[in-house]
Amino acid sequence: MTGITEHLSAVRDRAREAAEHAGRNVDEITIVAVSKQQPADAVQAAYRAGLRHFGESYVQEAVPKMDALRPLDAAWHFVGRIQGNKTRPIAERFQWVHTLERERIARRLSDQRPFHAPPLKVLIQVNLGDPRKAGVAPEEAADLAAAVASLPRLELRGLMTIPPAGLDERATAAYFDRLARLRGTLEDSGLSVPDLSMGMSGDFEAAIAAGATLVRIGTSIFGERGTRSSPVPEQTGGGERT
Ligand SMILES: *Cc1c(COP(=O)(O)O)cnc(C)c1O
Repeated sequence: MTGITEHLSAVRDRAREAAEHAGRNVDEITIVAVSKQQPADAVQAAYRAGLRHFGESYVQEAVPKMDALRPLDAAWHFVGRIQGNKTRPIAERFQWVHTLERERIARRLSDQRPFHAPPLKVLIQVNLGDPRKAGVAPEEAADLAAAVASLPRLELRGLMTIPPAGLDERATAAYFDRLARLRGTLEDSGLSVPDLSMGMSGDFEAAIAAGATLVRIGTSIFGERGTRSSPVPEQTGGGERT
């Protein structure tokens, strides 16, 4: 696991520089280390290096890692496609969900959130480009946000997006700006929308410039995925749109 500490300090330097350049305080920005397809010992190494927020895309892969880190005060963020039949372990085991797209799933997560746990923090995934890809259209975000805000066991936190592949730097910056403006629109309508989850290894500086508060970073911290003895992700094909 050598390398994680060095990688992380390089990521922190890049984040600090981007924040300073944008006139922002780097403390407003949380690094979510996306540990999908990385083994539990890599997550432990990242924890020892100071990270406390971890992102996972597959429930079955995440749970053993959570168990391995159970005594530690790590916060787990679900950043994958939510399958209708996997909401219970998400509601029970995660603190954050970045990828909500449907009100029915929101209601289920609220119903299944354990009473002893604080409300599940939820971000709505917005798609500002290709409508066939994951995420709600910007026009649908307000209704879904209002629905989340009204559910007792969910806490509306914000919006999340993944830009389409292949955008140049300028188009990526413009894309992130659009999500930030959508957040402003929702806040003008009276909703509390404190977070913007945007930016990955290749574009997190641009996301920070546009106002990201959560950056989801995998390979820049852990290296390439699946190069160590990593668990095999569960199948995600087909049935997720229940
Ligand atoms: C895998 C993944 C990331 C991390 O991507 P990197 O390019 O490795 O930093 C971030 N967000 C989501 C939703 C992911 O699935």
